[in-house]
Amino acid sequence: MEHKTRIFAVANQKGGVGKTTTAINLAAALAQGARVLLVDLDPQGNASTGLGIGYDQRQTGTYSAIMQEGDTASLPRPSTVENLSVIAADNELAGAEIELITADRREYRLRETLRGYGTRFDYILIDCPPSLGMLTLNALVAADAVLVPLQCEFFALEGISQLVRTVDRVRRAFNSDLHIGGIALTMYDRRNNLSELVAADARSFFGDQVFETLIPRNIRISEAQSHGTPVMVYDPKSSGAAAYLALAGEVKGRG
Ligand code: ADP
Ligand code: MG
Repeated sequence: MEHKTRIFAVANQKGGVGKTTTAINLAAALAQGARVLLVDLDPQGNASTGLGIGYDQRQTGTYSAIMQEGDTASLPRPSTVENLSVIAADNELAGAEIELITADRREYRLRETLRGYGTRFDYILIDCPPSLGMLTLNALVAADAVLVPLQCEFFALEGISQLVRTVDRVRRAFNSDLHIGGIALTMYDRRNNLSELVAADARSFFGDQVFETLIPRNIRISEAQSHGTPVMVYDPKSSGAAAYLALAGEVKGRG
């Protein structure tokens, strides 16, 4: 059977909605049985930190992947999680947003580097920065599908229409395959009526594009991040671990 790497951009231009948390924990959950690469495309480097990659280990990473500097084949490094490799956010990454503006084939840089990995990975997840600039554009051009974390909070759906329009534009201009691969409801709190309202609203707007799995607000998830490890390693019995494993099941099932 022909091997196809499935590439997902984890994107939402709003900050603090659970992009990085979802990228780390979904990647770790998918890595139970598949070869996964996580690309940290946010200059803040939270995904790299959340997987325990120290600043001394970030000399080469996503900047080199985007600017196609040096040997891009050696950029994915193993993480502490079996089957999970990472391209860390290096110190230069913040500058790439500006440098790309005048670069050749500036929208296709990341796509070309990731395509170069051939069949090395089954899944590639790209953790996007909280903006719709050149870095996120590179992720959308590289990806097959966008995973959108939606925080169960006030104004959650505002801004999503802008993201959907951006995805449509990228599909027409650069990447005819691109589509919304799913919307993940994050930080769901069953004691808070608002969470339920946002979830119901999202489902009425986006139908079955919204994953069944609700990611609960769970302190173990944020604790795990500060320990530099995914929640299913930090506390396998937590509700957060169970939720991200269930989400991975849905992602695998969506073909
Ligand atoms: P983004 O990448 O969209 O900016 P993050 O994934 O960094 O958002 O999440 C923002 C903050 O919320 C982080 O401190 C993270 O630990 C916390 N957080 C995210 N998801 C959960 C959750 N399900 N339960 C508890 N805390 C969470
Ligand atoms: Mg983030």
